[in-house]
Amino acid sequence: MVLQQFTIPHELIDMAGKLSFAKAQQRHKELCEIIEEHRYRYYVLSAPAVSDAEYDDLEQELKTIETSFPELITPDSPTQTVGGDYTTDFAPTPHRNPMYSLDNVFSDEELGGWFERVAKFGFNDIEYLCELKIDGLAISLTYENGVLTTAATRGDGKTGEDVTPNVKSIQGIPHRLTTDSPPEVVEIRGEVFFPTKLFEDFNGELLKSGKPTFANPRNAAAGSLRQKDPRVSASRPLRMIVHGIGNPSDLGLASQSDVYSLLKDWGLPVSPHFKVAVDVTEVRSYIQHFQEMRHSIEHEIDGVVIKVNSFAEQVQMGFTSRAPRWAIAYKYPPEEVTTTLLDIRVSVGRTGRATPYGHMEPVKVSGSVVEMATLHNQEEVERKGILIGDRIILRKAGDVIPEIVGPLIHLRTGKEKKFVMPTQCPECGAPLSAQKVGDVDLRCPNAKTCPAQLRERIIYLASRAVLDIESLGQQGANALLVDKIIDNEADIFSIRELDLLKSDYFTRLEKNEKVITQNAKKMLASLEIAKSKPLWRLLCALSIRHVGPTAAQALAREFQSLEAIRTADEVALAQVEGVGDVIAASLAEWFAVDWHQQIIEKWQKSGVSFEDQSVAPSDSSLSGLVVVITGSLPGYTRDSAEEAITSRGGKCASSVSKKTDFVVIGENAGSKAQKAIDLARPILDASGFEVLLSQGIEAARAVATIGS
Ligand code: NAD
Repeated sequence: MVLQQFTIPHELIDMAGKLSFAKAQQRHKELCEIIEEHRYRYYVLSAPAVSDAEYDDLEQELKTIETSFPELITPDSPTQTVGGDYTTDFAPTPHRNPMYSLDNVFSDEELGGWFERVAKFGFNDIEYLCELKIDGLAISLTYENGVLTTAATRGDGKTGEDVTPNVKSIQGIPHRLTTDSPPEVVEIRGEVFFPTKLFEDFNGELLKSGKPTFANPRNAAAGSLRQKDPRVSASRPLRMIVHGIGNPSDLGLASQSDVYSLLKDWGLPVSPHFKVAVDVTEVRSYIQHFQEMRHSIEHEIDGVVIKVNSFAEQVQMGFTSRAPRWAIAYKYPPEEVTTTLLDIRVSVGRTGRATPYGHMEPVKVSGSVVEMATLHNQEEVERKGILIGDRIILRKAGDVIPEIVGPLIHLRTGKEKKFVMPTQCPECGAPLSAQKVGDVDLRCPNAKTCPAQLRERIIYLASRAVLDIESLGQQGANALLVDKIIDNEADIFSIRELDLLKSDYFTRLEKNEKVITQNAKKMLASLEIAKSKPLWRLLCALSIRHVGPTAAQALAREFQSLEAIRTADEVALAQVEGVGDVIAASLAEWFAVDWHQQIIEKWQKSGVSFEDQSVAPSDSSLSGLVVVITGSLPGYTRDSAEEAITSRGGKCASSVSKKTDFVVIGENAGSKAQKAIDLARPILDASGFEVLLSQGIEAARAVATIGS
């Protein structure tokens, strides 16, 4: 069967109610077939053809059709059955108590709908047990008189596959319960997963040995567990967390949370993250908290599960044919989607590096629409095994840069094309070459006139991280060059209002006369301010290869003027902490080029001071201190806050570790705040930060808090 691709599900969902019965019936049949096929690929082959989000959309569409036409609901519809299957590869094992799926909600509004359905049962003071929805593989463990006798997959919910030898090899699953009075028989349900941190290394090893890799930890867990040779499963670092009992009423317990205490006492791995919430507000803050913390957990999660805690209440609410009514899964926005790779193009950066990037059909992932993703170099394209025209998996975890994970090979049509790295610069035609033998990256050598390099250098120089020139972005940089206002960056500080009048981009018509725009005025004003920016920023603005903010700051601290850096010998440059041989050589090479000297001269003529006067060179009050700043601090941009540390000799790190001396936490801080607490690092708020700057390390220690 060729899987149908599914493009605009929500439009179809909206349309469902308007379909004629005949059309609805036809679409219903199609959807059932497509969903069953996806289920087979996902549960049995561990090789899904679509992302979970797209699969969820298909199920949602089916549900919507069935809501409009209930006569289409049959007992074997995917809305009524538990997804999964069992094969003849493993012995079929009937479950004593059915294994259910969970109903899903995807928004706060839908969650509100579930709370209303619970409220209709009229319970008083409902407690909700909130826990993480582990993105793994459902497994049932049967213990008879305390001994693990069977481990089975969920299968169709009634019968699973016997994977006992494989599960027995998983670290942390007791073969015997640690109790003197075990029940005669008990089925314990949980999730087997592949720890996220170990996944990349594992996939790397598979790749090295030429074996197919897994798209994500969930598929890796499923694939590892369904190995016929248990030694293979045993060699994989799988783990399990348990989250329920087949028939809890047999044990005479009152609540889900009581079950977790008991399972923990029996030596079973229970999640440390569950929480009993006393009202819906607490449930909502749990959901929000873990959405932010999603990536600091040992395993992948795709949402949270909310369960009515009391068993008496659970019994009253009961089950549908596929899921308990007393539980709901709140799914987070997807971080992995599939899309089509329309093309692989090559961009040339400010230092000439030619970088292939994927141009994809636009797709929403982690809350934003993505249509481009870097592929780094031609080796990476080969390593990922992607072809132009492939259906691909795209991943964007939180704020992380989008990444093409790999192709869905089984969806190939034969029309896909191999990417060939160009031999010439796509913008200036110069032959691309590696700078030295063994370099993977190819470069355009035409630094002086390649339009791409010129444009990218201007964009970089104007960026917030460098000179922070207002209203000078991609289009502005392009206009400056194309309209010949500047030849290259040497002219950037000599631009006058008059020069801008020849460009449509920087002008508008006022009473039939061309005048320069407000944005153009802002650009000129911030260029003026930039002339006296700190030396390290001006040094970065020169786009010297390898000289980023850290090296530039170290150089500025040590030499305090561009002239001193220019005349220093390579050995002296290399000895500066944070500089080293490669950067020193790159500096020497850059200064030796004539037209680079002209940039410096022209900038100086326009009033650029390449000297640091702002910070007394003797201020090394924070020398050696490692600080992490997270969230926003009043009166500072991120750059200026970091500069306040580095200009006093301290270092700013991007992540919290045991070596961090202080974590400065401003407003809307992210997961680094939690990490600071977890690692018991000293925490400073905005006022503590001021103490650090004005009174030094000891005074800051006195006002820092640790642990909360
Ligand atoms: P589900 O994964 O949405 O939820 C039910 C399962 O969640 C339970 O069976 C249980 O094993 C698990 N679970 C994890 N943490 C839990 C916890 N703390 N408490 C209770 N249960 C917990 O539903 P499903 O029926 O297993 O699978 C459907 C989902 O699987 C889809 O929504 C989709 O995300 C994915 N899927 C994807 C494809 C695909 O082709 N990409 C195909 C089929 C299914």
